[in-house]
Amino acid sequence: MSESQQKAGTEVVGVTSLYHEHEEWHVNSGEATIHAKRMPGRFRTIKYITESFWLVFFLGAYLRWNGKQAILFDIDNRQFHFFSMTILPQDIWMLSLLLLLLAMTLFAVTSVASRVFCGYFCFQSSWVDWFTWIEEKIEGNHTQRQKLDKAPWDMTKLRLKLIKHAIWLVIAVLTGISFSIWFVDAFDYWHKLVTFSLPVIGWVVLFMFVVGTYILAGFMREQACMWLCPYARIQAVMGDAQTILPAYDESRGEPRGKIRRGQPVDESKTGDCIDCYQCVQVCPTGIDIRQGQQLGCITCGLCIDACDSIMDKIGRPRGLIRYASLDELEGRPVKKLYQHPRTWVYVAILLLALSGIVYGLTHLGALTLRVAPERQPLFVRMSDGSIQNKYTFKVLNKTDKDLYVKVSAEGGIKDQIIVDADQKQLAIHGKATAFTVFVKAPEVSIHKEVTKLQFRVENVEEPTMAAEYTTMFNGPKQ
Ligand code: SF4
Ligand code: SF4
Repeated sequence: MSESQQKAGTEVVGVTSLYHEHEEWHVNSGEATIHAKRMPGRFRTIKYITESFWLVFFLGAYLRWNGKQAILFDIDNRQFHFFSMTILPQDIWMLSLLLLLLAMTLFAVTSVASRVFCGYFCFQSSWVDWFTWIEEKIEGNHTQRQKLDKAPWDMTKLRLKLIKHAIWLVIAVLTGISFSIWFVDAFDYWHKLVTFSLPVIGWVVLFMFVVGTYILAGFMREQACMWLCPYARIQAVMGDAQTILPAYDESRGEPRGKIRRGQPVDESKTGDCIDCYQCVQVCPTGIDIRQGQQLGCITCGLCIDACDSIMDKIGRPRGLIRYASLDELEGRPVKKLYQHPRTWVYVAILLLALSGIVYGLTHLGALTLRVAPERQPLFVRMSDGSIQNKYTFKVLNKTDKDLYVKVSAEGGIKDQIIVDADQKQLAIHGKATAFTVFVKAPEVSIHKEVTKLQFRVENVEEPTMAAEYTTMFNGPKQ
C-alpha cells in the first residue's frame, strides 16, 4: 500500500490506514508474543466490569467479623469459617453440593454461550488482560510494542522492559499473598511476611504463585488457554448448533474486499467485510474468527467491538461479527432456551444442589449430637431393682471456643433419671468430644421392651445453643 493511498484512505473513510497495520500482522502459533490492539466497545466494557470481580480475591480476606477473619479456610484446624458460621469436615457434603452447583453452572453457561467464562471471568484471561494493559501503558500501543520487540537492545528498551517486568512481579507477588491469606489470618500473614518469619510452606506457596502468575500471565498468555486448559478441550462437547458464540456472518461478509477513496464500490459484488483485519488485531488469542470457530476462541467478544466500530465508520449495519448460533447463521430455526431439554436438566440439578446447600446452611447448628446405646449388654439390672442403660455421647462443638454442656432427656420411662445429670461436660471446640451417660428407670415403670428416648445437650451458658438426638431405652422382655 502506497503512502498516498494510506493518507487518502485515512482522510476519507477512516479505515484505510488500518490496512497498513495488518501488513505487519502475524498470527501467532506460540512462537511469538501476541500484541493485541485494545479498542473500546460494549464487550470491552463488560470485560472490565466482570474482571473487577477479582477485587474480591485481593481484598475479601481482609474482611473482619466479630474480631476475626470473616472468611477463612483454616486448613490447620480443618475448619471453614464463613462469618459466624463454622463448617467442619462433617459438613463436607455441603462442599460437594457447592462444587456440583459450580460445575453445573459452568456446564449450563457453556452449553448456552460457549466459553463465555473464559472470556470474562477466568483468572488466566483476566490476569493476561491486566498484564497487557500495563504493557501498553509502558511500551505503547500494539504496533509500538511489536516494533520494540524487534528493535535492538538499547537503554530505552532496557528501561521500558525493566519497568514492565518489575510491575508484573509486584502483581505476581500480590497474587501469591492474596491467595495465601484465605488460608491463614491475613494480618498475621503480613506480619510474618515482613518479619521474614513465615513457615517454609508459606514461602513455598508464595514462590509458586509468584512464578506461576509471572510466567502464565506475562509469557504464556493465550498459549495457556490453548494448550494447558482442560476446559478448552471439554467445552466443545457441551455445545451444539444452538450454542451462541462470536461468529462471522459469512453470507453477509463475503466476498470480502478492501474499499478505497475515489474507487467505486460495487456492493453487488462485495460483501460487508472490508478485510481490515481489525477483528484479528484485537483478538487476545490471535485468531481470525472469519476462518470459522476455533479452539483458541475464548468468546470474549472483542472482535465484535472491533468490527462494529468499522461498520459504523463505513456506514453499514453492525453485527457482521456477532454472538450467534450456527443454526441462526445458516437460517435454521432457533429454539428458545426453555425449549431445550438440557436446560431443564441443568435447572433441576442446580435447584437440587442449591436446595441442599440452603437446607444445610439453615440447619447448621453450633452443636451436633450423636448417641450410641450400649449393645452388650443392652441393659443392666441394678441392686435397687432399677434398669440402667449406658450411652456413648459424641458432642461436636463447631464454635471457636470450648464450652460446657448439660444433658437432659424427653420421653422415655416414667420416673427415669439421668445419672449425674447435674454434671457439666466439657465440649472441646472444633472437635467431637465423647463421654458416657447412664439412664436408669424403675423396672415397674417399664412396660415395653424398647422405649423411644430423646436426648438434648445444651450450652450451659447459652441454652438456645443445643442439639438433640432420638434413640431407645432398652428394658427386659415384657
Ligand atoms: S470482519 Fe469486520 S473487522 Fe474483521 S476484517 Fe472484516 S470488516 Fe474488518
Ligand atoms: S475470536 Fe473474537 S471472541 Fe474469540 S477470542 Fe478472538 S476476539 Fe475473543
